[in-house]
Amino acid sequence: MVPEKTRAAQDETSEEQRSGKTPDHEKQYVGFATLPNQVHRKSVKKGFDFTLMVAGESGLGKSTLVNSLFLTDLYKDRKLLNAEERINQTVEIIKHTVDIEEKGVKLKLTIVDTPGFGDAVNNTECWKPITDYIDQQFEQYFRDESGLNRKNIQDNRVHCCLYFISPFGHGLRPVDVEFMKALHEKVNIVPLIAKADCLIPSEIRKLKERIREEIDKFGIKVYQFPECDSDEDEEFKQQDRELKESAPFAVIGSNTVVEAKGQRVRGRLYPWGIVEVENQAHCDFVKLRNMLIRTHMHDLKDVTCDVHYENYRAQCIQQMTSKLTQDNRIESPIPILPLPTPDTETEKLIKMKDEEVTTADARDAAEDAAADAGPVRGRYLEGRRDPPVTI
Ligand code: GDP
Repeated sequence: MVPEKTRAAQDETSEEQRSGKTPDHEKQYVGFATLPNQVHRKSVKKGFDFTLMVAGESGLGKSTLVNSLFLTDLYKDRKLLNAEERINQTVEIIKHTVDIEEKGVKLKLTIVDTPGFGDAVNNTECWKPITDYIDQQFEQYFRDESGLNRKNIQDNRVHCCLYFISPFGHGLRPVDVEFMKALHEKVNIVPLIAKADCLIPSEIRKLKERIREEIDKFGIKVYQFPECDSDEDEEFKQQDRELKESAPFAVIGSNTVVEAKGQRVRGRLYPWGIVEVENQAHCDFVKLRNMLIRTHMHDLKDVTCDVHYENYRAQCIQQMTSKLTQDNRIESPIPILPLPTPDTETEKLIKMKDEEVTTADARDAAEDAAADAGPVRGRYLEGRRDPPVTI
């Protein structure tokens, strides 16, 4: 009689022999397990870039928060306008770039500031220069991508927009709604409640709830944090849950270091005490910083590339092709490169297609195609990222 253990071993061997597989411990090491290390080394060598836009009315603490986030002084040469000057001021776009390095990893950080936004008495379409700027960056990238030298493309696309909401209102103001609706298909919007130290915890809770409701009500698509992988550890899942529950983040900024409980911390000193920027019981600054820099920077870049840029690109190609079918010529900023001469069979096919196209109602065809190639619905709509539209 074969003992139970031996039989089990025999069964195992025969199973491996039958399937022709080598058991794990006998497998020879080929080396492709180092692929992630190779990617890591190459990325570190190349460096990273990130473009962050800040928007919201003047005085909400945008520059202070950016300086607190990256511990740099990005606004050294800023000229502050008085109230009278601000009435007539138009929205400007100002770019600040800084190279920062941490443990050998280089980050080229670009901050796109939008002074003047929401400051005028009449704020009709004051977001237009901002949407135009975002489109221009997409256009530039599209041109570079379609050009001859695609090796060193400078990516100036805006990866995230921090939108500052006033803590003094009762939710979103019309200009906030209009701004976010004008931009939500073009950029990842992260709404923030500015100067959270002006509110007590229960007021912050209420304001957050109100803003969340209004975001839903007006169909605004702000940046949605991706689903957490099921194989992540419990601590990470808990952090992820807290992050999602805290949105919109209520933040505090400060450029000064004060002494609290014997420690020097970034904070704001009041007659009644100290608000610490990095104290999670005081505000969501740390959550925002972790999200932006430590956990979601890559995802923000991915969504920009796979959803927002892809939308722009699809629309651009759509316009070019509909123009081509309408008047058989292209008036596009993108240079059309000469194609190889087609053979006679292909020429015949093209001719047949051309005849089909001219007999059809060109305008109807273009309109139908435009409806078909509607914008890519981002993952943020239904908790998943749809594939880009193909034309
Ligand atoms: P910006 O015009 O939006 O860039 O605003 P600034 O960063 O220049 O800030 C305007 C004023 O608000 C300055 O006096 C800051 O010290 C102050 N400030 C900035 N952040 C906060 C904050 O979180 N809480 C409070 N109470 N004041 C702040």
